Amino acid sequence: MKPIGGIFYNVPQTFHNASDLCRIPPVRTLISARTRSASNSSMQAGTQLSPGTLYVIGTPIGNMRDISLRSLDVLTGVGLIAAEDTRVTARLLEYHSIKKKMISIHAHNEAAAVMRIERALMEGYSVALVTDAGTPAISDPGALMVKHIRNLGYEVIPIPGPNAAVCALSAAGITEPHFLFYGFLPASPPARRRELQQVKSLPYTLIFYEAPHRILECVTDLAEVVGGHRELIIARELTKLFETIRVCQLADAVQWLQADSNRQRGEFVLLLTRPPKSAEDELSDRAQHTLKLLLEALPLKQAVKLASDKVSRLSRVASSSGRLVKPRPESCASSISAPMSASPAGRTTSMSGSVV
Ligand code: SAM
Repeated sequence: MKPIGGIFYNVPQTFHNASDLCRIPPVRTLISARTRSASNSSMQAGTQLSPGTLYVIGTPIGNMRDISLRSLDVLTGVGLIAAEDTRVTARLLEYHSIKKKMISIHAHNEAAAVMRIERALMEGYSVALVTDAGTPAISDPGALMVKHIRNLGYEVIPIPGPNAAVCALSAAGITEPHFLFYGFLPASPPARRRELQQVKSLPYTLIFYEAPHRILECVTDLAEVVGGHRELIIARELTKLFETIRVCQLADAVQWLQADSNRQRGEFVLLLTRPPKSAEDELSDRAQHTLKLLLEALPLKQAVKLASDKVSRLSRVASSSGRLVKPRPESCASSISAPMSASPAGRTTSMSGSVV
């Protein structure tokens, strides 16, 4: 058994050096070899399993092949799988040629299911927890079970996998770095609108999940409460045949959904981009940026003084004109004779960031 990137593969004895590793059968062969030899053994061909451990596994959100080698190893190696809906998980296991004992765990039987899992862990089996799609405990069951099992002192190991929110975000082209995952909004319209009022001004991209039978009324509420100018990204049926990612203004989103009833079918992630920055936000961003640049060239005290002088000057101009005035190219760089640096594009950039 040799470790390759933290994973253990059964490597034939004749492999002695790094170039020999190229002769390891391709991934596909390894998977089929592993899945064909599925058993309850705690040591599988790829990943070493710890006995008496709960593994929380992310599973595909549509495309059955979106599953990691490590997830397949663990599903193959555990003694028991706790699944949200055993019929859904059975299809995934069958696709990957895994045969395994399963129990179902959902809101109505959670206490009994937890007891069965506890018993299996006590007997030294490892157990996998999966939901119908994506990552357990993310708008899905799992958190209570994990909490209980952890409190009992058993190890809980996450095996990362797909998640609809992150999948949508990764392809949305939103450059703002911060986001807030909200999940499902309330189903009742008055409660949903109240909730939207609460969150609409938060300075983050907001991520919502929505079901097909509520998508139209949800987007209609979003447009009414938040305003038509905000950008919405509708990510539908991700990783599936009819995958669609639509970027539009909220004002146009309802019309787009209504234009073709097929667009209201399937599963949805809604990404609401953050509200535009106010003049004060812009000013504070600018202050931080200025301070950062000054700190590269000056001692702390002097840098803070120069930055605050500059920002309060800008602030006075902004408040007297009622908006943020674009700063003139007179830069801190010129006033402090800061060094010049070349930008990656080859243009020369002053310490204030303005291109000269
Ligand atoms: N645990 C899952 C995860 O990690 O993303 C979420 C489960 S939640 C019960 C189901 C919701 O996730 C759907 O109503 C939809 O909003 C979103 N979702 C799941 N799969 C999706 C997909 N393929 N495309 C778009 N949204 C999806």
